[in-house]
Amino acid sequence: MFKNEKINLAIFTILMLLQLLGVAALWTRFELIYLPAMLAIYLWVGLGTTLYLHRYLTHRGFEMPGWLKLFFATGSAVGLAGDPVTWVGDHRYHHLKSDTDEDIHSPRHGFPYAHMMWLIRKPPSFRARSLRYAADVRKIWYCKLWENSALYVIPHLVVAATLFGFFGFSGLLWCLYVPIAIAYNWTWAVNSICHMKQFGYRSFDTSDESKNNFWVGLGALGEGYHNNHHAKPRCAAHGLKWWEFDFTRYCIWTLEKLHLAWSVVWPEPVAAPAKDEAGVDEAAPILIPSVDPL
Ligand SMILES: [Zn+2]
Ligand SMILES: [Zn+2]
Repeated sequence: MFKNEKINLAIFTILMLLQLLGVAALWTRFELIYLPAMLAIYLWVGLGTTLYLHRYLTHRGFEMPGWLKLFFATGSAVGLAGDPVTWVGDHRYHHLKSDTDEDIHSPRHGFPYAHMMWLIRKPPSFRARSLRYAADVRKIWYCKLWENSALYVIPHLVVAATLFGFFGFSGLLWCLYVPIAIAYNWTWAVNSICHMKQFGYRSFDTSDESKNNFWVGLGALGEGYHNNHHAKPRCAAHGLKWWEFDFTRYCIWTLEKLHLAWSVVWPEPVAAPAKDEAGVDEAAPILIPSVDPL
């Protein structure tokens, strides 16, 4: 089982360092002027993952203009969320194998593994699988370029240098690494907490252990309604009830009103509880999109 794979020390060091830089900010002076930049970075990085990598690129829940795709994709690269080909390949496989022994990040393998360690212990063979599962993503020129780590880090380094130039070292820590550390852990909680029996509730009788969790949804920009998402993977909305606060859904709705998003897969009007709509065997056709990339 891959939870016993060798630790990739380089990735472990980078992920720990990125988070420690966020924690280190607590020992520097905080200025109110940092707040708007912190919020902007949190939303850019966060929506880069939730709106672009997940709801658009993996599940093709809507369409948007090319320049907007590049804008959100760049946000995900600023946050070093993982190159799009790997991210999409891993996530599509998670939907197909959720909470089985082959799931790439199920809490069946332990909480630390589901939360972060799966990123560090991935067998090299996972990469080959991502190339197959995300073949459509490799046709997008910048996603292809970002398979090269040296090119992938450029957006992060440019934003880091800009923030350092404006605010100095403490401003860099507060404005970039605090939002990244928070976004990482809230995003990872979708994989760990939202697949644990102890936390949250289920609205759909899916074949996995996925749960809806308001608090994860709050920080992860709506991704915490994970049971809803496993039941209806292509739906652009994860929060379905009025009180299921789903920031990413509201962003997509706003983009649609501005004619910057179209072909949006919204929930069906009658929200009757459904039975296991995304079984393992049935998932493949809805996860592997027929939509042409850029
Ligand atoms: Zn899941
Ligand atoms: Zn998904």
